[in-house]
Amino acid sequence: MMHDVDRPSEQRIPVHDIPGIDPAVVAEVERETSRLLSELIRIDTSNPPGDETRVAEHMLRWFRERGLEGEIVGEPAERAGFVLRVDSGRPGPSLLLLAHEDVVPANAPDWRVPPFSGLIEGDYVWGRGALDIKNLVAAHAVATARVAAAGGPAAGALVYACTADEEEGSVGGARWLVHNRPDLVHTDYVINEGGGHFLERGGRRLYFLESGEKGTAQFRLIVKGETGHASVPLRNGNAVVAAARVVEALASHEAPLVVDASSEDLVRTLVDAPRLRERLRDPRTARAALAELARRDVQVADMIEPLYGFAFSPTIVRSNSVAVNVFPTRVEVSVDCRMLAGHDEQEVLTEVRTALDGVEADWDLEWIGPVTPGNSSPYPSRFSEVIAATLKRHVPDAELAVRHSVGFTDSNWFRAAFPDTIAYNFAPHIVEGYDEVTPRIHNVDERIHVRDLAFQALFVERVAQGLLS
Ligand SMILES: [Zn+2]
Repeated sequence: MMHDVDRPSEQRIPVHDIPGIDPAVVAEVERETSRLLSELIRIDTSNPPGDETRVAEHMLRWFRERGLEGEIVGEPAERAGFVLRVDSGRPGPSLLLLAHEDVVPANAPDWRVPPFSGLIEGDYVWGRGALDIKNLVAAHAVATARVAAAGGPAAGALVYACTADEEEGSVGGARWLVHNRPDLVHTDYVINEGGGHFLERGGRRLYFLESGEKGTAQFRLIVKGETGHASVPLRNGNAVVAAARVVEALASHEAPLVVDASSEDLVRTLVDAPRLRERLRDPRTARAALAELARRDVQVADMIEPLYGFAFSPTIVRSNSVAVNVFPTRVEVSVDCRMLAGHDEQEVLTEVRTALDGVEADWDLEWIGPVTPGNSSPYPSRFSEVIAATLKRHVPDAELAVRHSVGFTDSNWFRAAFPDTIAYNFAPHIVEGYDEVTPRIHNVDERIHVRDLAFQALFVERVAQGLLS
């Protein structure tokens, strides 16, 4: 049952109205994208375990019905992706439309609607993946089919890919694809999930394009202790107590503050006061300036802070004690660590040693999964110019701004494997803004406005036509 489905957006942009696009086309694309997204949501690809091949098979059939032939690729067999190429037959640039098939799990009792129902109601498509990121699996597909139906791109090639295993592990999926099938996915340009939410500021709509992202270095600290019967308190050597000291020291550690292009860009875009802006760009004053900014505008401060360097977030603590009355010999503290582009695991290790210097604990560090350095693509470029011009045509008060993502997306694998590829994260909304959309991602009642879904398809179709000419 649903109640109080809020629709504040309806006042801003009337239904079926996207400036510069025939309302009949908008309505048709809205129907087509909504139907496909709803079908995709009903295929539960919660990761783990993912089982994404069912989405790949669905897309193979969907394109086949439109006379287009693609390929199911990837390992293991139950975790495959799907790739399709529309070649103009004429020399020119190539563009890959990328999205992932898997979703994060959903706890059904917490939701207003069943999370894998794909219900279309109240101008929304509801369900897990509606915003992250089956919306793009659907929008990119409709855009690709429309470009093909219009005779293909004027030059070069348009490539469609949906891939497995983005949310957890990245063992197969995009990482596998760039290393094993570069013949299919090595293109000049990649457009992927991440950016495209807009903030309304000073009468303008600020759209963020993500040109890069922080790296990931997740690790486990193994804190060792002495065992024994807990009825006799250990004077020293209780691993639980030592682990508590480790957690506290890491969480309160202030890593050296780094000002690089990623925070500079964002400060220039979002902070108007000249003196505050200057202080935010000086590593010696940035921390105090950030505290001041947080009092004025906590949203902007929260966007800038993670771009100042390392972030250590302890998330799991686990002891190997088998009983309450036995001291453990080992307590594991798992830490999510993000680092700026240009930093590596050696610097993470040095920073952890500094943070834990003098802390009474016997610890070792082991990495969880691969350490993935951050990376970025050049900006501006011909690609960003086409994106900015297309946006301006359909959202007259829009302004494109660049930022680095503080999270991780599959764009990282493409930039690392193909240094000549420019990968941007951008999928614009037109009805609902950053404040409405971002809290729903990885959360309950995930849903996308059908107009935003249609716009994402129509937008990327026009970017492809503009770029591949
Ligand atoms: Zn995602």
